[in-house]
Amino acid sequence: MKKEIHPTYYQNATIKCACGNKITVGSTKKETDVEICANCHPFFTGKEKLIDIEGRVEKFKQKMEKSQKIKSKQTTEKSKAKNKKTPKK
Ligand SMILES: [Zn+2]
Repeated sequence: MKKEIHPTYYQNATIKCACGNKITVGSTKKETDVEICANCHPFFTGKEKLIDIEGRVEKFKQKMEKSQKIKSKQTTEKSKAKNKKTPKK
């Protein structure tokens, strides 16, 4: 192997998870932070857990509510317009 072209390799590098789990691996980075790991990921735990970063789910729900409100408004306006268009005999 050539010298001085290889990054420092840490035999006991740690990966820290948000759930508190720590994994020791060999890595060129001494410490790594992750949000989710095999210990807390719902796929492995079997529990259904909502992983919400920065309230994305809430935002989506709000968007859906808004769009539905707009849709219902549009339909009512359309029905009104229809009533106006139909000529009275
Ligand atoms: Zn974890």
